[in-house]
Amino acid sequence: MKIAVVGTGYVGLVTGTCFAETGNEVICVDIDQSKVDRLSNGEITIYEPGLEKLFLRNLKEGRLSFTTSLADGIKDAVIIFLALPTPPGADGAADLRYVLGVAEDIGKLLTDYKVLVDKSTVPVGTADKVREAVAKNYNGEFDVVSNPEFLREGVAVDDFMKPDRVVIGVSSERARKLMGDLYAPFVRSGNPVIYMDERSAELTKYAANSFLATKISFMNEIAQLCERLGADVDMVRLGIGSDDRIGKRFLFPGIGYGGSCFPKDVQALVQSASQVEYDFRILNAVMDVNEKQKTHLLPKIRRYFGNDLKGKKFALWGLAFKPNTDDIREAPALYMIDELIKEGASVTAFDPEAIRNVKQVLGDKISYAENQYDALQDADALVIATEWNEFRTPDFLKMVVRMRNKVIFDGRNLFDTKAIAELGFHYESVGRNTVT
Ligand code: NAD
Repeated sequence: MKIAVVGTGYVGLVTGTCFAETGNEVICVDIDQSKVDRLSNGEITIYEPGLEKLFLRNLKEGRLSFTTSLADGIKDAVIIFLALPTPPGADGAADLRYVLGVAEDIGKLLTDYKVLVDKSTVPVGTADKVREAVAKNYNGEFDVVSNPEFLREGVAVDDFMKPDRVVIGVSSERARKLMGDLYAPFVRSGNPVIYMDERSAELTKYAANSFLATKISFMNEIAQLCERLGADVDMVRLGIGSDDRIGKRFLFPGIGYGGSCFPKDVQALVQSASQVEYDFRILNAVMDVNEKQKTHLLPKIRRYFGNDLKGKKFALWGLAFKPNTDDIREAPALYMIDELIKEGASVTAFDPEAIRNVKQVLGDKISYAENQYDALQDADALVIATEWNEFRTPDFLKMVVRMRNKVIFDGRNLFDTKAIAELGFHYESVGRNTVT
């Protein structure tokens, strides 16, 4: 099948590459000329485990190509995916300007039947708006489908190639058949393709992300209680997670959720609810808890240093909003950095993949280390903000000889409290007793 993917970011590039991998001919369109140039020259633009190999193979085989021309991109495509940004607008609602703008442009270019697929996360009713935008300039036959994307950055290729489910909101038989054929290779093991109406599909994506964010904020509140009541959140987590109705996953407390999806999607759902005069109380609380949780370590740090961080030198491990990605959008680490710097401290950071992106935002406001140990040189304390695997079992001896103080503030609960106490560290984490 010939496919176009408009928007070649985290979702678009993975979508395009994975569809090419199953034999389709895919053209990815992006307005960013330098991105298109780099990709066309075989240079991957994001870090995503396993993606580069697939990307290079399909580029070489000629099944995957890149262009800035929407006209060239969609000319021969039967299905056009829109993987465009839907950032929060001033009121928190999803800004549909990119999606509707491109839909209108596509309307000007259409000459025969095509299916437009909303892959971006968009509010209920967007499929209708996309239809209207296309119909402004085209009165031939076309269909609009809602096919929200559930991939997780860090495991995006696996998620795309072997999805738990594919949700397709569609009201035309012709489009349903095309979408079913396209996704058939991805669900051979029997995972469902769930067909529904477009509005339900649109809401499904927001409901999924909001539920997951709720799980995180809930555990963060349990962690707050643990600290005040002398309980251990890890024990509570194991205790409740073994109940099938609750499940083991997504119960880890920390310094809040970040990334380009949860914060904006929860906010957008609250806005959608308020537009139909419904006050989504749980989600307001979820956002509120998350805001506070992002700076959860700060009072601990201040207390330890007697409320004076001036001149203190912090090592920071982890900048990405979660491990296995270079994505720093809404990363809790950035909030920590902001606060530490505001109080006169300096920060030397290390992240296996995200430094390049952080340099673009923070420049020389902080220093960057070549590896996790160099970041510790003369540090008064280490702050851990992302749970990269390589941070889990470090060489503590190497750490000790570099650090000025054996002090760790861990926002991701990487270490066993007893073991780290035996090594002589002062160690504060989330929802567990401080050891010293
Ligand atoms: P992104 O910012 O990484 O990528 C968007 C791309 O669109 C950029 O490359 C940008 O240059 C391009 N673009 C902007 N305007 C354009 C235009 N007019 N024509 C062509 N290209 C244009 O965004 P993303 O993370 O890939 O997210 C895209 C959508 O998918 C969002 O709605 C997001 O909520 C949703 N989503 C994201 C994830 C995720 O993990 N990142 C997961 C599921 C769903």
